[in-house]
Amino acid sequence: MHEYPLTKQLVKIVVDAAKSHNAAKVSAVRLVLGESSGIIPDSVGMYFDMIAAGTPAEGAKLEIRTVKAEMHCPRCRKDFPRPRFSFACPDCGTLGSPKSLGDEFYVESVLLETEEEEE
Ligand SMILES: [Zn+2]
Repeated sequence: MHEYPLTKQLVKIVVDAAKSHNAAKVSAVRLVLGESSGIIPDSVGMYFDMIAAGTPAEGAKLEIRTVKAEMHCPRCRKDFPRPRFSFACPDCGTLGSPKSLGDEFYVESVLLETEEEEE
């Protein structure tokens, strides 16, 4: 269970972003999560609600975008999502080279609610 410390870090990033923009509240957070990271999105969501309670991030909508590990086929010159337990191109069977590891965990965007709202 490494979701707890990661989510704690995530909430800190979000709260720091709110502070530096003088925002009273965070309305939404978009998180990118690699499929091979072993992180369970549901757990992150659960911990997020728990850790964000009492901070400007409380009640923020957490959107998690899961990304697959990508491979590149040198023969077809195209990218394909890495099949489970294999590195072979689904079209020609050539071994692809990894483009991304699929272990991403980062904040893509933070939507803030600022005090001075335009009318
Ligand atoms: Zn191929």
